[in-house]
Amino acid sequence: MAAKRVALVWFKTNLRLRDNECLFKVIAENDEVIPFYCLDNSLFQTTKFGFKKAGDFRMKFLKESLQQLDEDLRAAGSGLLLLSGEPGKEISRLAKETGAKSLYAEKEVAPEELETAEKVAGELLKLNCTFLTFECRNLFHSSDLPFPVGQLPEIFTEFRKRTEKAVAVRAVFPPPSRITSPQIAPLNLDRLNKLIPGDVTADPRAAIQFRGGAEAAYQRLQYYFYQTQALSTYKNTRNGMVGERYSSKFSAWLALGCISPKEIYQEVKSYEALYGANDSTYWLIFELLWRDYFGFCMEKNAQHYFLRSGNQQSKAADPALFNTALNNWITGKTGVPFIDANMTELNLTGFMSNRGRQNVASYLCNDLHLDWRYGAAYFEQQLIDYDVCNNWGNWAYLAGVGNDPRTNRYFNIAKQAATYDSNGTFQQLWLHEKS
Ligand SMILES: Cc1cc2nc3c(=O)[nH]c(=O)nc-3n(C[C@H](O)[C@H](O)[C@H](O)COP(=O)(O)OP(=O)(O)OC[C@H]3O[C@@H](n4cnc5c(N)ncnc54)[C@H](O)[C@@H]3O)c2cc1C
Repeated sequence: MAAKRVALVWFKTNLRLRDNECLFKVIAENDEVIPFYCLDNSLFQTTKFGFKKAGDFRMKFLKESLQQLDEDLRAAGSGLLLLSGEPGKEISRLAKETGAKSLYAEKEVAPEELETAEKVAGELLKLNCTFLTFECRNLFHSSDLPFPVGQLPEIFTEFRKRTEKAVAVRAVFPPPSRITSPQIAPLNLDRLNKLIPGDVTADPRAAIQFRGGAEAAYQRLQYYFYQTQALSTYKNTRNGMVGERYSSKFSAWLALGCISPKEIYQEVKSYEALYGANDSTYWLIFELLWRDYFGFCMEKNAQHYFLRSGNQQSKAADPALFNTALNNWITGKTGVPFIDANMTELNLTGFMSNRGRQNVASYLCNDLHLDWRYGAAYFEQQLIDYDVCNNWGNWAYLAGVGNDPRTNRYFNIAKQAATYDSNGTFQQLWLHEKS
C-alpha cells in the first residue's frame, strides 16, 4: 500500500476556508491535512522605531479571526493547531512529528515575511518536505498581468488602464466540505489571552465595532451591500469620516484574509445584476485595484518601502527624530484640531478614515518635517487593518518617495477640514472628552 500523503497548511493572512488556494490544493493533493497558524515571536517585538509590531486592537481581532477559523475548520472535520515561537523551529518540529512531506502557504512579498518564509523553507528542505506557495492576497493573479511584476508601471493610473479591462478575475475557490485530518487538539489561546488585556474594546464613538473572522466579514458585506445598499452611493460617501456607512470597512478583514478581494468582486457583480451597476459599484473595485497595486509595488521594490528615501534614492535626508513634535502627533496634541481628532480616533479605536490617514500623514511629513517611517511604524502598531503593502506603500506615496513621486503631495489641513468636516461634526465627536 502506498504511504499516506500528509501535508501541512500554514494560515497567515488568509484566515478563511473560501477562496483559499492553499487549502483547496492541499486537500486535493494529499490524504491528510494539518492546518496550523504560527504566533511568530517577532509579532510581540518592538520595532527600531520604538513601537510594538502589533497593538491590542489588532491582536484581539487576530484572536477572534483564529477562533472563527478553528470553528469553521472543525465543522469540516479538522481544526486549527496553534504554534507559538520561532516559525523555522516550530514548523520543522511539526513536520518531523507528523511526517509531512509538503507545506502549502501563502506567497509573501514583503521583506520580513519573505525572510521568515525562506527560513522555514530552508528548515523543511532538510527534512525533505517541499514548501509550496500560492497567491492569496490580490484580486489579480500576477501571472495574468500583461507585464511581469518587475515591469509594473510606476504610476497607478497606468497600471489600472493596462489591467482593468485586460485581466479577468479568476474564479473563487469553493470552501471544502470535508477535510481529512488527524485529531487536532482544541485551540489553545493561552498565550494570546495573556498578551491581550481583558478590556480591549473600541471607544463607543468608533465608526464600527470590528469583530474578527470570516463570518463577521460576510455579515458586514451583507449589511453594506444588500441590507443598506450603501454600495450604490459609495463613491459619494467614501470621503466621509463619521459613522459606519461612509465606506465599506472591509479593510481589517481583508488584511487578515477573513475575506478575499475576489469574493468581494464576485459579490459586487451579483449586486450589480440585482440593483444595477453605477459609478459607486465600480469605485469599490477601483479601490481594490489600489490595494493590488500596492501589493505588486511591494513585490517589485520590497526593500525600498522601508528606506527613508523610499524608491527615490536622491531624497535621503536628515537623521530620524523622535521628538516632542512626533509625540504630540501620536497623542493627538498638535493643537491642530483636525489632526488631533483623527489621531484620537486612531488611538481609541484602531481605525481612521482614508481622508484622515492622508491628512495626518501629510501633516507629519510636510508640516512637521519628520521621517515618514515613524508615522508608518506607529500606524503599524495601531491600525486594526494594518497591511504591510498598503501601509508602507501609502505612506511612501504621501511622503513623495514612493510610486508616482511628487516633491510635494501637500494637504492644506485647514482647507481639508473645511471641505470634509464642514460643520465640525467629526472634530467635535473626537475632541470632546468621553463622558
Ligand atoms: C497613510 C495611509 C496608511 C494606510 N494604511 C493602510 C493599512 O495598513 N491597511 C489598509 O488596508 N489600508 C491602509 N490604507 C488605505 C485606506 O486608508 C484604508 O484601506 C481604508 O481607509 C479602509 O477603510 P474601508 O475598508 O472602509 O475602505 P473603502 O473605502 O471601503 O475601500 C475598500 C477597500 O479598498 C482598499 N483600499 C481603499 N483605499 C486604499 C488605498 N489608498 N490603498 C490601498 N487599498 C485601499 C482597502 O482594502 C479597503 O478596505 C492607508 C492609507 C493611508 C493614506
